[in-house]
Amino acid sequence: MPEIFTEPLDSVIPDDVTLTQFFLDSHHPRRPVRTDAPWLIEDETGRRIGYEEIRARTFGFANGLALRYSIKEEDVVLIFSPNHVDYPPAIWATHRLGGIVSGANPTYTAEELSHQIQAVKATLIIAHPSSLHTALDAARAAHIPSDRILTFGESTQPTVESIIQLGLSNEAAFVERRLKKGEGKTKIAFLNFSSGTTGKPKAVAIAHYAPIVNVIQIAQYTKVNETYTPWEEQRFRPGDIAAGVLPFFHIYGLVFSVYAVPFFGMSLVVTPKFSFTDFLRSIERHNITHLTLVPPQIVLLCKHPAVNNYDLSAIRFLISGAAPLSAELVNQLMKVIPNAQIGQGYGLTESSTSLTMFSVDEKIGIPGGAGRFLPGIVARVVRPDGSLAGFDEPGELRVKTPSLALGYWNDEKATNETFVEGWLCTGDEVIIREDKEVFIVDRLKEIMKVKGFQVAPAELEGCILDHPDVADTCVVPIPDDYSGEIPLAFVVLRASAANRVGKDSREVDKVKASIMKHVSDNKVAYKHLAGGVEFIDVIPKNPSGKLLRRVLRDRARQLKAGE
Ligand code: AMP
Repeated sequence: MPEIFTEPLDSVIPDDVTLTQFFLDSHHPRRPVRTDAPWLIEDETGRRIGYEEIRARTFGFANGLALRYSIKEEDVVLIFSPNHVDYPPAIWATHRLGGIVSGANPTYTAEELSHQIQAVKATLIIAHPSSLHTALDAARAAHIPSDRILTFGESTQPTVESIIQLGLSNEAAFVERRLKKGEGKTKIAFLNFSSGTTGKPKAVAIAHYAPIVNVIQIAQYTKVNETYTPWEEQRFRPGDIAAGVLPFFHIYGLVFSVYAVPFFGMSLVVTPKFSFTDFLRSIERHNITHLTLVPPQIVLLCKHPAVNNYDLSAIRFLISGAAPLSAELVNQLMKVIPNAQIGQGYGLTESSTSLTMFSVDEKIGIPGGAGRFLPGIVARVVRPDGSLAGFDEPGELRVKTPSLALGYWNDEKATNETFVEGWLCTGDEVIIREDKEVFIVDRLKEIMKVKGFQVAPAELEGCILDHPDVADTCVVPIPDDYSGEIPLAFVVLRASAANRVGKDSREVDKVKASIMKHVSDNKVAYKHLAGGVEFIDVIPKNPSGKLLRRVLRDRARQLKAGE
């Protein structure tokens, strides 16, 4: 198979504006004319926030950040919060000042958060009152003074609202950051976390240009704003209402919810925490038309009995991403939401985000397929020996896309391994059919995906090795119907622990439970060892000491299949 070139991008994408200037201040031919539909709707209260209010609050926020916290060029603002209606203005405001945003999972432990604060060298933390306690602990550990933390909503800390009001009641105290021609391609907007093909999570540097390109790629692919496409057939229309349940700290939720939805003139229902029955209620209450979800949420839509109690007939589009969605689930879903277009998209943090999407000509995406490449992308499938694979032949997917991230921040070695001469080595094993449909068949890289979130074995192994009974360990994924994958740890015990376990069989469960607790105490819930702990005499390694993960992954699958 030769390289696959998709259709070129057919509009100019500015590289001299920040994301905020592009989405809040300018027009692009692909963008539908603005309507008076609200940009954001607060799920719980129904509060509707329109364009003028968004712009005003963004200005107030930027001005307040400059006045009170002197946020300026290159300062990193870390947001540690579930989705909130002031989360997008916090991003937009930081970018007006030339700052960088790093979103963190609001359920992180203090240790995980402190690691991120230090890795990105954050100078200000915006937390949610519900996560303030952890934020304060993490800030202390990272030597950030507590007066550099402010919160969305009521709190004893300074609040975002007070900063916005401060900014609004004062003349502009900052000069908006403007970019030179081409600078949009290099100026960092976000530091999002991903482990890439190997090792621990790393900060991925994403330039302003990348999400702009990705939204335009999606717009062109789905023919947004092309007058010859009949209105009924247009996938994204002004006035449509999208669910904002995907977290904004992850690239998938960020690009879709914070940028694509308002670009298409749609409204976003901002939901802080995913609770399935509340979600069903929101769909009915707000007449939600568009769902961007991950597979575990789709499992619930297909199997949870509460689905029958709600009117879901407004839904006309559902896309699944971040992890594989089986053909069986798609078939079941068609019965639950028969009016909807349903399919998959595929992407990575490193490609800031979507590379594929189910074709706009299909009501239902090809079962098991991840869709076709967006415009402006070049793709190849590479065999283990480096030669190009043919159609229908598995190999590693490598892509060139203008939405590519800049690399791993301050980590040249990892960057050079994954970003090779302009190609992103995805670490995903794919098959591309002759009709260009992409099938993700396996993952060649170490990460596993639990409920759509990355879990890096190296991170868990580091944590498990701190346990006093553990001499060596290797963490592998095992399949799980709900979460997709869950981590299982193979553990070699230290001699003293092995002796105890050898003498008294009750010790087996005790030591396993203690290792699992150690992980639960230190890591966010989706990283817990839900697949269990298995003792092993030695971790298989190749002569140069590299863990033979595949061998243990296969053994774990056999063990679980035999249970
Ligand atoms: P992240 O950077 O957290 O978005 O993770 C990217 C990884 O998620 C990809 O490299 C794939 O391994 C996986 N992924 C994303 N979308 C899909 C999909 N539709 N099907 C299978 N795996 C996916």
